Amino acid sequence: MQNIYFTPGPAAIFPTLSKHIQEAFELQIPSISHRSETFRKIYQECYQGLKQLFNLPDNTAVVFASSATEIWERLIWSCVENHSLHLINGAFSKKFYETAQQLQKKPSFYEVEAGKGFDISTIQIEKNIELLALTHNETSTGVSMPVEDIHRLAEQNEQGITALDIVSSAPYAAIDFRKVDTAFFSVQKSFGLPAGLGVWIVNEKCVKKSAILEKKGLLTGTYHRLTQFWKYFEKFETPSTPNVLAIYLLNKVTQDMLKMGIENIRIQTEQKAKKLYDLLENHDYLEAFVKNKAHQSKTVVVANVKNGESTSILKKLKEKNMVVGSGYGEFKNAHLRIANFIANEEVYIDALINELKNN
Ligand SMILES: *Cc1c(COP(=O)(O)O)cnc(C)c1O
Repeated sequence: MQNIYFTPGPAAIFPTLSKHIQEAFELQIPSISHRSETFRKIYQECYQGLKQLFNLPDNTAVVFASSATEIWERLIWSCVENHSLHLINGAFSKKFYETAQQLQKKPSFYEVEAGKGFDISTIQIEKNIELLALTHNETSTGVSMPVEDIHRLAEQNEQGITALDIVSSAPYAAIDFRKVDTAFFSVQKSFGLPAGLGVWIVNEKCVKKSAILEKKGLLTGTYHRLTQFWKYFEKFETPSTPNVLAIYLLNKVTQDMLKMGIENIRIQTEQKAKKLYDLLENHDYLEAFVKNKAHQSKTVVVANVKNGESTSILKKLKEKNMVVGSGYGEFKNAHLRIANFIANEEVYIDALINELKNN
């Protein structure tokens, strides 16, 4: 019997994926040249699909790296001379900050404890901030930033770049890309694809900043620098041989999402999330880890196990072929993390809820 995955990444695969993989092999996609017209058409269609799905403005590129982790690094390296400002409320936003430290920038931060969101009226964006680093959805703890807060902060950051991690909330997050300059995700989470592709949405403001740093002699070399990405994007090519199969599949899944309709996707995501949070409100031994409803993630629902012992619950679910995520880091044994992505269809969410109710 096959497992049903509710893990937040790698996650359940998108329902149409095996059909698309089969077709890709029939079309011999893994053997085509990345300098061929066939590849350029795949890239172009993928870009146009993502442009529609995310409602991207014209001056915005979509380029491919190997992971979101790589994009953290390329982004800071390409767009920050000295100062980035980070909002930290979990393990992933912290790693984003640590990347800036490793690159010997002078990052500053606001931090709140795990499971809490930010009161943005307390956040000051100084004039010297070149990049504001936000994480829409903290996959580690299930805290989400309200989209209106992201937009408000972006408006206060007119001179700097606003960067947003949407790894575990794309395409659910309804981001206004006229306000947010750059965002990124890796495909093994909410897109339900095999890991190994980082998708980077980036506008001209970022590329211009990077070109200035290059002119100053602060950036040299490296094939995945932003100006290089942009140059290749303009002809729908990539600086090096990319994962052509992954880009092909991303395009197919994006087209499927467009057919479902982004509005429908958002409505369904919210309905399923409500069922999960309702379960946690009335449960004997589980409760929502994030208390403030405005900050509860719709795509990664994190349950606190009241007796701090998730192992036996995970084991029982596994016996029913249901694989739920354990807690992240220090919360490994204290939490359950339940993905509520598109591939976690309502029938499966219902089955999981049923199991957790009767257990
Ligand atoms: C998983 C995750 C990342 C890192 O993604 P990789 O594909 O492993 O590089 C970054 N940010 C968030 C919010 C994540 O959930």
